[in-house]
Amino acid sequence: MSDYKLLIDGELTDAASGETFPSTNPATGEKIADVPKAGKDDAVRAIEAARRAFDDGPWRSMSGAERGATLRAIVQVIDDNAAELAELEARDGGGTIRKAQLADVAGGRNAFEWFAQLAETQPDRIDLEGSPFPVSENYVLFEPYGVCTGVIPWNFPFIMACWKIAPALAAGNTSVLKPASYTSLTALRLAQLVTEADILPPGVLNVLSGPGGTVGEELAANPMVDKTAFTGSTEVGRRIMQLASGTIKAVTLELGGKSANIVLDDADLDQAAAAVLWGTFMHGGQVCESGTRALVQRSIYDDFVNLLADRAGKISLGDQLDMETDLGPLVDRSQVETVERYVALGREEVGEPIVGGSRPDALADGLDAQAFYRPTIFADVDNSAKIAQEEIFGPVLCVIPFDDDDQAVAIANDSIYGLAGGVQSGNLERAQDVAARMRTGTVWINDYHLIDPKRPFGGYKESGIGRELGTQGFDAYRQVKHIHVNPETSGRDNHFHYAMLSGNI
Ligand code: NAD
Repeated sequence: MSDYKLLIDGELTDAASGETFPSTNPATGEKIADVPKAGKDDAVRAIEAARRAFDDGPWRSMSGAERGATLRAIVQVIDDNAAELAELEARDGGGTIRKAQLADVAGGRNAFEWFAQLAETQPDRIDLEGSPFPVSENYVLFEPYGVCTGVIPWNFPFIMACWKIAPALAAGNTSVLKPASYTSLTALRLAQLVTEADILPPGVLNVLSGPGGTVGEELAANPMVDKTAFTGSTEVGRRIMQLASGTIKAVTLELGGKSANIVLDDADLDQAAAAVLWGTFMHGGQVCESGTRALVQRSIYDDFVNLLADRAGKISLGDQLDMETDLGPLVDRSQVETVERYVALGREEVGEPIVGGSRPDALADGLDAQAFYRPTIFADVDNSAKIAQEEIFGPVLCVIPFDDDDQAVAIANDSIYGLAGGVQSGNLERAQDVAARMRTGTVWINDYHLIDPKRPFGGYKESGIGRELGTQGFDAYRQVKHIHVNPETSGRDNHFHYAMLSGNI
């Protein structure tokens, strides 16, 4: 028996196989829960339930106002259980409780609120004026796609779940979601809370914990699915796209990044150092948009690098449930090992890091220091180095010097990724000129990481396809139908276009 349940067709249930897998607190290695390990048959059942709920159920024909009210009921459930969800999120994934409260749970509930507002206010019909054809009336209908699946990563499990579920439901779709195996708990708990509060018709929302290779692949490939939205690595994103191509499903892909945070010579160095450190080390660098390449103008380079090194050494590692902790463990030992491999590569490519470069020696009693990694900075990195090109997804910053704005833009754009970036400068005109030339989906000027459901988010190049959030992230869940009406129900005299084929038809 597992401690958490799958949600399929309105029922909280174990996996058909009865199999489970453990979820642990990475800081201590302690098992938190047994989680149901769904298989392909569970995935198919969930998709079939979502299909029925879409085709036959009341959900798609509800008004936007009714769907908005339903989403607001989910906001209420999140608010009522916010403290529990935040603690579960921090315990399961290793992120700090501060992040869990301020970013994860707050961000997830804000996403539901935003998409509730869009369901209530966005028109589902627009009349088109000025038809070039005689006597026709034209309008566009916005309709839900149908069954939308979502597969999400382990770094922001609660927010990612909300970003997939809320826009899909707001637009009238039904949803099947698979969280990542390291961090399934808050998505399963949300499903349980929503089910117990009897908020949604059966089958409208389904949540399955289980392996990507079986459950995830089914969600991307099954012909009954109309749209699939994936957040995760570029490598798996490529696979999702292939699988979805079988039935030409709509896809949204939010993938990896190696974002540049550009520090111009007119920046306030204190503020810029804060933006670079926060931009890189928040959540141990396990963030897709992390500014893991700091491009620093040569005239301020030495002073700025000293400032970074000094401040980075003060970031505290510890129990993620302690409000004083800056950084918790990485999500899993395997992630620490990945970081270690990249740091070893960095030593070969660049030399000794100026800060960090190892796991901490020891931490407070009960904490497994081997699960943590110290904030690490490599200076004087060439942008062609592998540590500057590949996504490490850990607390590793590459500092790269540049001479002028053109060179900064060229280095920033010299990446297969294009998710985000930053410009730190005292001159807003200059900063905006640089930002406009960066080939990325988001640029923060004199800031970093500030994501709000009202603003679109997504990547250029191999960082993805499409946008989440904003009004764009709502429209990404709506099909567009043009209807052309000839109000003359008989007689062909005015139908000059038939004459293009033949005067006789
Ligand atoms: P991952 O790609 O390994 O896994 C993501 C999800 O895909 C998990 O749920 C996993 O079980 C599933 N999966 C794995 N193989 C699959 C397959 N063959 N078919 C279908 N599903 C499969 O990524 P991760 O390690 O969980 O997360 C880290 C990655 O996510 C990083 O690359 C990071 O940049 C990216 N990310 C991107 C964004 C964004 O918005 N662009 C946000 C967060 C994380």
